[in-house]
Parts: sequence; structure tokens; C-alpha cells
Amino acid sequence: MDLNYSPEDEGFRERVRRWFAEHPPGALDTLEQKKAWQRKLYEAGFVGMGWPREYGGQDARPMEQAIVAEEMAAADVPGAINSLALGLIGPTLIVHGTDEQKRRYLQRMLTAEEIWCQLYSEPDSGSDLASLKTSAVREGDHWSINGQKVWASLGAYAAFGILLARTKPNVPKHQGISYFILDMRTQGVEVRPLKQITGSSEFAEVFFTNVKVPAENIIGQEGQGWELAQTTLGYERGGSVLARVTRHQANMRRLIEVARALRRDGQPALEDPLVRQKLGRMVVEVEVLRYTGFRILSKLEQGTRPGPESSVDKLYYSELDKRHQELVQDILGPFGQLEKGLPKELALNSSTMRGDDSTWAYNFLWSRAGTIYAGSSEIQKNIIGERVLKLPREPRADRATPSSTGG
Ligand SMILES: Cc1cc2nc3c(=O)[nH]c(=O)nc-3n(C[C@H](O)[C@H](O)[C@H](O)COP(=O)(O)OP(=O)(O)OC[C@H]3O[C@@H](n4cnc5c(N)ncnc54)[C@H](O)[C@@H]3O)c2cc1C
Repeated sequence: MDLNYSPEDEGFRERVRRWFAEHPPGALDTLEQKKAWQRKLYEAGFVGMGWPREYGGQDARPMEQAIVAEEMAAADVPGAINSLALGLIGPTLIVHGTDEQKRRYLQRMLTAEEIWCQLYSEPDSGSDLASLKTSAVREGDHWSINGQKVWASLGAYAAFGILLARTKPNVPKHQGISYFILDMRTQGVEVRPLKQITGSSEFAEVFFTNVKVPAENIIGQEGQGWELAQTTLGYERGGSVLARVTRHQANMRRLIEVARALRRDGQPALEDPLVRQKLGRMVVEVEVLRYTGFRILSKLEQGTRPGPESSVDKLYYSELDKRHQELVQDILGPFGQLEKGLPKELALNSSTMRGDDSTWAYNFLWSRAGTIYAGSSEIQKNIIGERVLKLPREPRADRATPSSTGG
């Protein structure tokens, strides 16, 4: 593992940093503004960087991608809106799609012309995703879809979704699933946004009643859906490890300033030995995250795809985020719950307040999600136990298969 950046990488970082300094995103309240920001990022070469050039990417090295992600975090600018398309759906199409599918969809993912969502989870199938019930029945030149999905991030804005549906009911559950491209504007698709604890509606429930999906919209072969879903999840687990570290570091620096400004029992909270101890511990934990990130990054640089051991990273960073946000609340007390009207010296980001998603309160509430999506903490522990540590599996016939999960 090499912990140094090469002179080329340092030069690249300098150029990226300058670009972000010269191109502030401005208001990003509406969907159109968010799409326009992604397009700008794309034109600068910062979107789909790892994708092959023939599909609009840059063939960039993992290190270059990490540098851009880090600089975005350092500049405190939001990433691309079409996150699922860029991180999971596009890469799956690149590997498994037909030439026709690649030509039709990939470029418009990069430019945010078409937003995508992931239609995996169902009300009774989350961790045990392979038990999903939404059905797809072949009728001539199309498939007829019936059923319900839930927790579809970006579902309310999406033009397309990737859909897992059961095409064969009478075979072992993992073998009867296929993978489709769904045009969300098709008749029979009903999208109902779900309001979250944070106040925003990033999720949607999606209902299908006799929805006709053209036969050519299947990705891979019939019955190959589970295998493809594993590829997709694999990309998601890779993650922008170092960007997370940069955001945590920035938050820690700010939290220390806030603890200095905040008065407790007549003195700055930072003078409290317990507060100092907890802050110190958190700084160390973020450093651990940084070195774990380097380990993953150097594996990627050597061309090795992270395997089940990336569950260690997922478990650690999502649990760390919860501990981090709990510490914030611990230090700020009632101030931590204010979404509006927080004195400037106590706000998360005094210079570039962008609305609710840059408050301590929002971050606290959002941190609860990290240990659920892309495989809950319990599922990550099962994976670590069984596939990393090779511990014996629990010999119970009725146990759920913790092999994968939705988004
Ligand atoms: C922010 C966010 C975004 C999401 N985006 C999407 C999306 O875009 N598309 C999509 O399809 N889904 C999405 N999801 C859904 C997500 O994939 C599921 O919530 C997740 O897979 C867990 O499933 P569940 O909610 O049904 O919980 P369940 O599977 O019912 O789990 C309930 C509890 O039981 C535990 N548990 C379950 N099985 C086991 C086991 N075998 N061993 C030990 N413990 C177990 C779990 O850890 C959890 O604590 C999103 C979720 C969140 C929070």
C-alpha cells in the first residue's frame, strides 16, 4: 500500500481544486438545477470518470476518481444527481447490456438527461431480496409486470428504473429472477413519494398493474437477474471511500470550532475533559476510516475488485457516521435539533449554508439510513462472518439467506 500521491496526482488535484473554486454550483433547489450541475460536472470530465471512453467516460484511474471525490467533499459541493445510474446501473449495462441498450441509455445517464431509480426492495423483501414477488409474465413481444416496490430512491424523478421481477415461480428463488429496464412513464406504473423523517421525499413506492415491458428491455438472459443484481451491488459497495473521510474531517474541524463557541457551565464546551476525550476518539476513528480507504483504493489501483471484505468498510463507515452524529448531538444539546435559526457560530457550515441538507439535524437523521441501505449492519456482519472469516453457517433450516439486499 502506497500512502503517497505521485507528482502527477498532485498536479491533477491542483487543477481539480481550481475548477471547483472557479465554478461554485449556485442554487440547487430544483431538479432542473441539479441536472444542470451534473451536466456541468460531466463537461468538466468529473462524471462517469471510470467508465470506458467509448461510452462517454474517461477510463480514469481509481486514484483520479478518488481525488475528484475528495476535492468535491473539500469544496463542500454536492455530487451528481443521477447517482444510482452512475454508480450501479450504468456499470451493469456496460458489462451485461446489448450494444443497442448501451447506445440508447448510457450517454443520457452521464448528462443527467434521464434520471434512473433502482426497483429492488419490496414490502416483504429487503434483506432477503431473493424472496421478491413482483412478477413478469411473457406475453408475445412483451413482459407483463404486476406487483409493488418500495424505497426507490429518486423514484419520483426517474425516467427509467432497473427492475427485478420473478419470471419463473417454480424454481429455487435465486434462479427465477430477471432484470429489466422499465420506462417509468409506461401505463400502469404508479409512483407514490414517501415522506421521510428528514422532511424530504427522496423515496417512492412504485406499483405495477399489467405494465407492458418490451421483450428487448431485459438485461442479460431470463433467470440471470440475481447474478446481475450482485454485480450492481458490488459497484455500490466500492463507494467513494476517501470522499467520506474528507467530509468527516471537515465536519470534525467544524465541530471543534462549534465546541469552542458553545458555552457550557460558564465555559467553552471544548474545555470539558469529557467532550475533549470524545472528540479525540472520533478524530482517531476517522483516521482509521482513512487508512481503510487507502487499503481499498490501492487494491482498486492494482486492478483487484474488492470482494466480501468491502463489507468491513461498509459496516465501519456507516456505524461510524451514526456515532459521529450522536456525538454532535451530545455536544450541541438542543441546538443540534434546530433546522433553522441556529446562531451562525454554531451552524454546521457558516459560509455555504445550502438549506436543510447542510444542518446538523439533517445529518443526524440521515445517518440512521446508512446502516440500512446497501445491506444492513446485521447483514454485513453475516457476510463478514461467513465469507471473510469463514465461520460455520448457523444450521437452521428456516434462516433467511443474508446473501444480498436492495439499494
Ligand atoms: C436511504 C435508503 C435508500 C434506499 N434506496 C433503495 C433503492 O433505491 N431501491 C431499493 O430497491 N431499495 C432501497 N432501499 C431499501 C433497502 O435496500 C432496504 O431497506 C434494506 O435492504 C433492508 O431491508 P428492509 O428495510 O426490508 O428490512 P428487513 O430486511 O426487514 O430487516 C429488518 C431488520 O432485520 C435484520 N435482519 C434481516 N435479515 C437478517 C438476517 N438474515 N440476519 C440478521 N439480521 C437480519 C435487518 O438487519 C434489520 O435490522 C433503501 C433504503 C434506505 C434506508
